Amino acid sequence: MSNVAIVGGGAGGVVAANMLRRRLGAEHEIVLFDRDTHHRLQASFLWVMTGKRAPEAVCRPLSRLEHKGIRYVNASVDGIDTEVGRLTAGGVQHRYDYLVLAPGAELAPQAIPGLSDVSHTPFDLDGAVALRDALSRFPGGRIVVLVAGMPYKCPAAPYEAALQIDWVLRQRGVRAQSEIAVYTWEPQPMPVAGKEMGDAVRSMLAARRVDFFPQMKIAEVDAEGREIVFESGDRVTADLVVSVPPHRLPRFCSDSGLAEPGAWLSVTDSRLMTTDRERVWAIGDAVMIKLPVGLPLPKAGVFAHHQASAVARNIAAEITGKGAPGAFDGHGMCWIESGGPVAGYGSGDFYAEPRPDVKIGRPNRLNHINKVMFERWWLWRWF
Ligand SMILES: Cc1cc2nc3c(=O)[nH]c(=O)nc-3n(C[C@H](O)[C@H](O)[C@H](O)COP(=O)(O)OP(=O)(O)OC[C@H]3O[C@@H](n4cnc5c(N)ncnc54)[C@H](O)[C@@H]3O)c2cc1C
Repeated sequence: MSNVAIVGGGAGGVVAANMLRRRLGAEHEIVLFDRDTHHRLQASFLWVMTGKRAPEAVCRPLSRLEHKGIRYVNASVDGIDTEVGRLTAGGVQHRYDYLVLAPGAELAPQAIPGLSDVSHTPFDLDGAVALRDALSRFPGGRIVVLVAGMPYKCPAAPYEAALQIDWVLRQRGVRAQSEIAVYTWEPQPMPVAGKEMGDAVRSMLAARRVDFFPQMKIAEVDAEGREIVFESGDRVTADLVVSVPPHRLPRFCSDSGLAEPGAWLSVTDSRLMTTDRERVWAIGDAVMIKLPVGLPLPKAGVFAHHQASAVARNIAAEITGKGAPGAFDGHGMCWIESGGPVAGYGSGDFYAEPRPDVKIGRPNRLNHINKVMFERWWLWRWF
């Protein structure tokens, strides 16, 4: 009998747990650890922001995994000893034979002085609810969507947020007296996906009168004056700041010696997602994979999902000696929801050399319907 431990019940962790359960007999134990009681589908958070989804509609209790034969431990993992195959969760020690690390990326707004005092973020569920309420009362004025750190998850999200905020304000009849602007560190939207993608997103923003300011690196927020101060010395005021806060690796990883402080997890093979520790794999947002083009593989659920699937196949093959091995091939896709029933869609091979080969189609209703269907499928399939 083997024991497979999975840290994190997000996009990568739930897929890994489900796929391992399907491949391994009941004599093998699969244990999923999460500090949260619920899986939260982050790809639906912007619909929570616009009021199209209730927050509970995009969550599922992780305890539901128990019905499938996956043991779920609701505790925070705070230490891992890969030498002996043991992790500590909520003060209790657990032995494992195989370990999948899928703890995602944490938000760290406190890394920018003043940011959490003035900004709302749709990057967590409570933040999306608070922003929905703020937008429903917004009398008109200047809204700044601010990318306050790199890398961040879902490279399309700040642009989708701006487009969907435009839609909310139009529905409420206050768009004419409002300005919306995106300020970002990036040289163009979604730089890793190439110029064609960047130009397509820029025209979606321009068509909705959303201003775009690239290469603006934030230094601090002057909470009293409600001013965003950039490293260039430029200062920008806003009536409502919508931020993508800096992200970081959950601290237990560096505390356990799995990564240097301030760094991300790394893998020894970006197709197998193996780490330099025996029988330890790492997937999803917690991992930094440098592409040949010099930029990191984006942090996105679609990649966490496919990496989880490859890792589950490989662990199952190692335990049972049966089944074809799997590899993550770098393919991914994303919808760019633009408010109302319309979305753009891009897809491609991020492992292509010398640079990712990504194509984007024109926004249409069908893309939006496909994203809605995907949301339903996801919440049904894994729970
Ligand atoms: C607004 C928004 C929109 C997005 N839209 C899309 C989209 O359209 N398409 C797409 O592909 N991606 C999208 N993403 C990105 C996607 O949600 C993430 O890339 C994906 O969830 C990453 O999966 P993960 O398993 O690595 O991490 P997560 O899904 O973040 O899961 C990590 C889990 O680990 C748990 N955890 C962390 N630390 C500990 C600990 N110490 N002990 C126990 N548990 C711990 C957390 O509670 C969490 O449940 C979006 C993200 C946001 C914020």
